[in-house]
Amino acid sequence: MDVEDWYHIPSVCSSPFSEYRDVDEFFENWDSRYDYLSEPTQRVLDLLERFDVKATFFVVADIVENYPGLVESIAEKGHEIACHGLHHQCKIDPKTKEPLITPEQFEKQTLKAKKILEKASGQEVKGYRAPNALIGGWMLDCLENIGFEYDSSVCVNSLYNKTDSSLEGVSTTPYYPAKGSLEKGKPRDILEHPWAYYDFAGFKVPTSGGPMLRFLGARMMLKGLKQSLKRGNTVFYFHPIDIAYEKFPQIGKGRPMYWAIKGNMVEKRIEYILKELKSTHIDCLG
Ligand SMILES: [Zn+2]
Repeated sequence: MDVEDWYHIPSVCSSPFSEYRDVDEFFENWDSRYDYLSEPTQRVLDLLERFDVKATFFVVADIVENYPGLVESIAEKGHEIACHGLHHQCKIDPKTKEPLITPEQFEKQTLKAKKILEKASGQEVKGYRAPNALIGGWMLDCLENIGFEYDSSVCVNSLYNKTDSSLEGVSTTPYYPAKGSLEKGKPRDILEHPWAYYDFAGFKVPTSGGPMLRFLGARMMLKGLKQSLKRGNTVFYFHPIDIAYEKFPQIGKGRPMYWAIKGNMVEKRIEYILKELKSTHIDCLG
């Protein structure tokens, strides 16, 4: 699960084209209701309980301050708390693929986020997911330096590429990345958990969930998840706000599809996938 609210997305905050420079500027200027996250997060917890599933929640660290008790309630249910950045800021420019911050700044911010989440959850935070999946090899080196044990941001597919790094040889199963790279390397202290895809004669369709759950539907996701699980462990994810029933405030350019499609449909798709996976026996080879 990626736990962020509507204003964390790049069209509203913390990207080169956002309405507000960052989340701090957003809160300085926004005096209406902002919490569209707590209610769907509670439904995610209920859903997981119903299917007896434990998940990893990659949480934006400023959620701890702005949604008192939310991270604590996720941790109390026995789920893992991981890090989704301090303020969901893009670390790499989505267009030029150039870094937007230095490795030193990234380490400082991310260590701060790790400590905030550890204090709230009472757990050691071991995992990281890059905001907007904008990841580079240099970021993995930084994460290793500050004590993270794994990252889960790499998505190999034939439709889009969020990085300018080569993903040659990477598939849907966990691997050790080479230093300064996203390609496979020798064993080290950080592991990468890449996302699921469906390989159709060499054409790779992303089926890890998230926005693709809206665009491609549940059957395609399930097909890709089952195929990926045959290769070994893989990743399926969504955001609690993907299943929000309410419309978010209409600000920011280039808003994503979840502004337009109803959360109850996405919720049904997730239920279908969980139900099908629960009733299928998959022999993992990895
Ligand atoms: Zn995110």
